[in-house]
Amino acid sequence: MKLANKIALITGGGRGIGRAIAFAFAREGAKLVVAARTTEQVEKVAEEIKAECDVEALPASCDVSDREAVERLFQILGKEFGRGVDILVNNAGIAESAPLVKTDDELWNRHLAINLTGTFYCTRAALPAMLERGWGRIINVASIAGKTGAPYIAAYSASKHGVLGLTRSVALEVATKGITVNAICPGYVETDMTTRAIESITAKTGKSEAEAIAAISRMSAQNRLITPEEIASVALLLASEDGRGITGQAINVDGGSLLF
Ligand code: NDP
Repeated sequence: MKLANKIALITGGGRGIGRAIAFAFAREGAKLVVAARTTEQVEKVAEEIKAECDVEALPASCDVSDREAVERLFQILGKEFGRGVDILVNNAGIAESAPLVKTDDELWNRHLAINLTGTFYCTRAALPAMLERGWGRIINVASIAGKTGAPYIAAYSASKHGVLGLTRSVALEVATKGITVNAICPGYVETDMTTRAIESITAKTGKSEAEAIAAISRMSAQNRLITPEEIASVALLLASEDGRGITGQAINVDGGSLLF
């Protein structure tokens, strides 16, 4: 059991990549807190984890872009477990596309608030207890759009570039304290987010669904989409003792879309 006695908080754990990470950690013995805005989804995931993995799993309704809600969540968890979380996975995120000239303030601010500031709020709330205990893992689910640009995703890409800057700076700040801070940069993953991207491509270009899937698959040298479980495997390595020498990194899991 690689994560026995560890407490892990996964934001955006109600579906997709976050759900897969929650299961991977629970199978290795971690106690789980699964947070997102949609209460029914986090409740369902927590119930499934308890049933399948026989570990403690708490659902938490929390909007990561709401500072007070994040601080309240960490206070509640401190009381519930008697200590802070050992592993924080900042996975909650949104992705919407628009040409830059049609990117209104609301779309821009929402991406920065959830993808970047949400990651900052959770990291700031989690770090004091990690520093006190001299052990911690922070894993930020960024994107290959955090390393490169693409048309129509300026807000998303800017928010994910920000996540990498945050990751690298905090990693160096806490490098001697037993805490690692890393980012995972997925390419297209088989989740609802990608389903919405495919719907948007078909609506805007007139391509069929199969053509849209083929087009995004071709962005990977392996000509395929990534599964949520592949992201979870990398998250597990980063969370475990085996990953203690890896910090400040932004690891692509993208079938070779990007070679940097
Ligand atoms: P999904 O849309 O399937 O899941 C996103 C999760 O984040 C949901 O649980 C959602 O729940 C939660 N979430 C969204 N906004 C908030 C918020 N304000 N507060 C708390 N939780 C929130 O997406 P994926 O699983 O695909 O994406 C997970 C992460 O991976 C994201 O950060 C995304 O940017 C990143 N990623 C995904 C890729 C892909 O191809 N799918 C590629 C590269 C990166 P709710 O809406 O109920 O709050």
